[in-house]
Amino acid sequence: MTIFAPDDVLVLGAGAAGMMCAAQAGQAGLRVRLIDHASKIGEKIRISGGGRCNFTNTHLNGHDGAAYFVSQQPRFVRHALSRYHAGDFVQLLARHGIEWQEKHRGQLFCRHSATDIIALLQRECAQGQVQWHTGTRILSVDYRNNLYQVHTEQDCFQAAALVVATGGLAAPAIGASGFGYELAKQFGHSIITPQAALVPLRFEHWQSHGFDALAGVALPVAVRCGSGKQAMVFEEDLLFRHKGLSGPAILQISSYWQPGQTLSIDLCPQLDLAAALCRGKHGQKIRLDTALHQLAPQLPKRLIDFWLAQAPFAALAKQRWADIADHHLNALAYSLKHWQVLPSGHDGHKKAEVTRGGVNVAEIDPKTMASRLQPGLYFIGEVMDITGWLGGYNFQWAWSSAVCAARALAAQSTHL
Ligand SMILES: Cc1cc2nc3c(=O)[nH]c(=O)nc-3n(C[C@H](O)[C@H](O)[C@H](O)COP(=O)(O)OP(=O)(O)OC[C@H]3O[C@@H](n4cnc5c(N)ncnc54)[C@H](O)[C@@H]3O)c2cc1C
Repeated sequence: MTIFAPDDVLVLGAGAAGMMCAAQAGQAGLRVRLIDHASKIGEKIRISGGGRCNFTNTHLNGHDGAAYFVSQQPRFVRHALSRYHAGDFVQLLARHGIEWQEKHRGQLFCRHSATDIIALLQRECAQGQVQWHTGTRILSVDYRNNLYQVHTEQDCFQAAALVVATGGLAAPAIGASGFGYELAKQFGHSIITPQAALVPLRFEHWQSHGFDALAGVALPVAVRCGSGKQAMVFEEDLLFRHKGLSGPAILQISSYWQPGQTLSIDLCPQLDLAAALCRGKHGQKIRLDTALHQLAPQLPKRLIDFWLAQAPFAALAKQRWADIADHHLNALAYSLKHWQVLPSGHDGHKKAEVTRGGVNVAEIDPKTMASRLQPGLYFIGEVMDITGWLGGYNFQWAWSSAVCAARALAAQSTHL
């Protein structure tokens, strides 16, 4: 076993946050070593955003971003996001000549490939003279004589500061593990129960009720979870699947959904459907299915046919619109505007994009990402109880928290 001379900083996890922090700390003059158990680094970046990485969102351009994050303390993100925001990351891309494009709702994607971002982070690390150890299993971590010792199968690395950037549990096939949570607990931190988030939802009896026949149908909806001040509503696309529901609307609401909670889905959010059906029917010879198609063209034909084949409406589908009583039309409109579904679960960490929960941020300094319980210990990125919405928020959190920690480490080293 080789025992390495102490470095200034050991960063555990060479994902988005770990590479960013290592690069920035290295460029500030610190001796930094980056350790990851995966042999191929940045895999989550590579597969993100359909291979184009939705690396940030313009809504995080200096505004208060707390509303876009799920946490026991969403306001925790404010400081880091104000110190390093979406525009700062865009400037970094510009310095590396990486082209990007804006899509839906402020989401910024690489124009060519997510691998551009991995290459950028590697170049930034090289500029900071960061030492790499990949494909290295970490056996244990100790803290002795003001030094962290990280024992791997071959080596022992040491440093005065340890940055935990090992992410959450989503996508275990490409290296995710609960290592960060165990390490946090070892040093006295509490963990907000990690759960799959940004994940498709499942439903009991989905197939026996015939919903699997709608697999592939997509439409814009408004999905609601909770009530009163706690209610969350997302207006996004919904996708029917063989085993349940997915699409951006469902992924977003999954970060707020708790087992046992019913979701209310408005399948026709653009229209006061009851009024349109009751007021528009006079003198109309067309059938109800045709009427629905004309009034709400965003409702796919397969969904209309399925809906009108259900017991309460089956007798109406082929009737002339003008002949149908208002109370039937109101009932149909209500069923489409207030579809109540009770998820039985979700697809789990394998299919989730992120993990909600994680290291309790009440025990972390929001200005430095330093542990309030243990000297020299830092947490960055997804390992913390900070979960962004779909749309580039999670990567921006990785960049912002990483830069904050790196600046704090650099500032501390100048005081030594
Ligand atoms: C399919 C998919 C698509 C996504 N798309 C987007 C998107 O477009 N936009 C967006 O903002 N977010 C997206 N995300 C979420 C985003 O990828 C994460 O929030 C982000 O990568 C978190 O960065 P991180 O550095 O904290 O963790 P990670 O990027 O997960 O990095 C953690 C690193 O730690 C390493 N590690 C784990 N355990 C150990 C251990 N025991 N020992 C050593 N190393 C360890 C891992 O190998 C990994 O390299 C997506 C996620 C997935 C799964």
